[in-house]
Amino acid sequence: MTGQSVEVTLLGNTQDGGYPQVGCLKDCCMKVRGNVSLSRMPVSLGLKGADGLTHMVEASRMMSQQFDLWNSLGAVSWPPSSFTLTHAHLGHIDGLGLLGREVMGLRGVRVHCSDSMSRLLRKTPSWNIMIEQGVIDLDIWIPGVPFEPSVGCGFTITAIPIPHRSELSDNHALIIRGKSKSLLFMPDQDSWEETIIEDIGIVEWLNRMDIDIALIDGTFWDYDEISSRDITEIPHPPVTETLDRLGAKKNGDPDIEFTHFNHTNPLLEMNSVQSKKLLSMGWGISEQGGVYRL
Ligand SMILES: [Zn+2]
Ligand SMILES: [Zn+2]
Ligand SMILES: [Zn+2]
Repeated sequence: MTGQSVEVTLLGNTQDGGYPQVGCLKDCCMKVRGNVSLSRMPVSLGLKGADGLTHMVEASRMMSQQFDLWNSLGAVSWPPSSFTLTHAHLGHIDGLGLLGREVMGLRGVRVHCSDSMSRLLRKTPSWNIMIEQGVIDLDIWIPGVPFEPSVGCGFTITAIPIPHRSELSDNHALIIRGKSKSLLFMPDQDSWEETIIEDIGIVEWLNRMDIDIALIDGTFWDYDEISSRDITEIPHPPVTETLDRLGAKKNGDPDIEFTHFNHTNPLLEMNSVQSKKLLSMGWGISEQGGVYRL
């Protein structure tokens, strides 16, 4: 099997709440409620290494359905050899318990995370017991230093600190670097000003990290979708701002796709005016089940 390309599959493209969101009786969710083909899961990546072994990024409560999706796109070796976690907000970690004795009963699953996340896991009883029982085995990364989740997987992961409300843990974007391409996974950030400290544009920032494909925070199309309360409590740069900063895609620019959509985001509908505008500028809308070869 060695020598195959590394495959990244997007196993969900919504914000932590998924789509439809529990309790939302507005049009956005009522029109898809009960229709499995239109519903969408929280962001997560399935990584298939050159050796055929699998790894996951994020541990969502929808892991069962995400496995079904991944498996339907090609036989998947299960359980995954490792999980890599960006931060501790609900949808990124609420499926971790599925690895434990109540469900899969796994042993020695590598969990790659930051030092701050590891401290949270140790001080939370329901997660700490999984460490004590040997279900998970924490591996703390050094930000900026690439690591190989397993020998022979054919790719590395590099964690980049990204400011994002850190009540529980810090937050990182991940660079997944294969032999021929590199993908940036950055589902959450508070603002571009805090993410890119230097006076450079988004494309230049990505180019300096040698990124070919970037999956970036597209939580809200604009602030009209949400109440003023949410803007201060859950800051994300709206897609409209990101598009203003980017302008139209130029030859040689990396492929940028938006992801982590809130249930209110018109980008969830490929035919919306907003989706058409974004696509006409040359940028992309990530799709659940999308596959990227590195
Ligand atoms: Zn999130
Ligand atoms: Zn809704
Ligand atoms: Zn978050």
